[in-house]
Amino acid sequence: MASSLSPSVPLNDGNSIPAVGFGVFKIPPADTEQAVSTALQAGYRHIDTAAMYGNERETGRAVSESGLPRDELYLVTKLWNADQGYDSTLRAFDASMDRLGIDYLDLYLVHWPVPSLNKFVDTFKAFAHLRDQGRIRSIGVSNFEPEHLETLIDATGIVPAVNQVELHPRLAQTKLREMHARLGIATEAWGPLGQGSLLSDPAVTAVADRVGRTPAQVLIRWHIQLGNIVIPKSVNPQRIASNFDVFDFELSDVDMASISSLDDGNRLGPDPRTFEFTGR
Ligand code: NAD
Repeated sequence: MASSLSPSVPLNDGNSIPAVGFGVFKIPPADTEQAVSTALQAGYRHIDTAAMYGNERETGRAVSESGLPRDELYLVTKLWNADQGYDSTLRAFDASMDRLGIDYLDLYLVHWPVPSLNKFVDTFKAFAHLRDQGRIRSIGVSNFEPEHLETLIDATGIVPAVNQVELHPRLAQTKLREMHARLGIATEAWGPLGQGSLLSDPAVTAVADRVGRTPAQVLIRWHIQLGNIVIPKSVNPQRIASNFDVFDFELSDVDMASISSLDDGNRLGPDPRTFEFTGR
């Protein structure tokens, strides 16, 4: 059990989000309840799932079995591309809430902009309606590029609380992070460990050796010190715990810079400008 809980990142709507959460992408439904329970026991209070991951029900079961008070938990899910549009968003939200077994959500994200669908504005208007009804605390987006953010803000007058994007030392998203800072959008990093690919990078292992921590802990610290919200995923109990044991050390400016030097702008995931997959 970690002795200290995660620090928080303030959001532009007056709420705040735990800086370190637990991501459950690609955790099979059969393994999800155990993994989320392990994370909650290790001290995580922020869980990041999505309708598309197919494990909202098992995530909700772990949350309810934990016995933790609802207001100590921070639960995030995402609207899948096929459900974009005003009325379909309202229906998809109800379905996610039923699967999660909760009566309010902390943060709802538009999973991808899918510009070719031209529906993310209507989708976000439905998010705002649900927030006004008190069913969602904060509303945000995921995988939005600057032009998508501009379109959304111009059309709705609402600045999303969060933009969750692929972000790790090889794709540091410096320009997008600057735009977020200017507009008051919190930056959330998916694939924070480069989906595992950065753990053996010599620049990362050199810092890990120097500070006596694991490469994953060093990468998570890099995110925290940049002000990113970070949601590493693992199903291994030791790794789940050690990824959360990151609040008692700091990287020096030199170590931060040496990790940041890995930025080559290469994505692991799809390009949000062209990603059009709308099936499940
Ligand atoms: P990640 O960067 O968290 O890497 C996960 C991989 O690293 C796993 O293979 C795991 O086995 C390995 N790993 C984790 N901790 C380790 C450790 N201590 N030692 C060794 N190996 C370790 O990648 P991710 O899962 O893609 O991203 C994290 C979360 O971000 C997801 O679970 C999901 O919640 C979210 N996500 C969102 C989007 C989106 O489009 N919004 C896309 C991908 C992921």
